[in-house]
Amino acid sequence: MSREFHCPSCDKKLFTYEERTRKYGSLLKECKKCGAQYLDPRYYELAIDGIPEDEFGVGRYSLAILIGAFFGWRGIRTANIYMYTGADPVRWLLPISFILISFIVVIAGLYEIFTIATGLKRKKMERLYEESKARMKDSGYIYTLQKHGYMIPEEYNL
Ligand SMILES: [Zn+2]
Repeated sequence: MSREFHCPSCDKKLFTYEERTRKYGSLLKECKKCGAQYLDPRYYELAIDGIPEDEFGVGRYSLAILIGAFFGWRGIRTANIYMYTGADPVRWLLPISFILISFIVVIAGLYEIFTIATGLKRKKMERLYEESKARMKDSGYIYTLQKHGYMIPEEYNL
């Protein structure tokens, strides 16, 4: 589901995001309009929240590949029909975009599965985890997170 995020201080709409969006990095961002700090709900602090194991599941990528392949097949089939029957140049846009988009989806899905299977993704997550732990050494950062009501595990408490 799509959500809007507004600055807690000035209420300016800052972005829309999908609830399942998950980015890794500092949670603290600054409002472009009023300069107030806020916690970005899209971000996860790995040292606090832990590495989510579902990052290493191949299910959703396999599904994306299947759906991509289906639309690619539909695109190729339609293009094939147009080739024999002839079609307005404008009508070619549909099968061609089907084929291009599904090609990108399939390649991206295969790449994700490749990085999971080879352990590259786990390495990347571990690197992000170390970066997160380094951020947790900054007492100013911890203080600000707590001030914004973020739950901090005991080991990082000030
Ligand atoms: Zn603001």
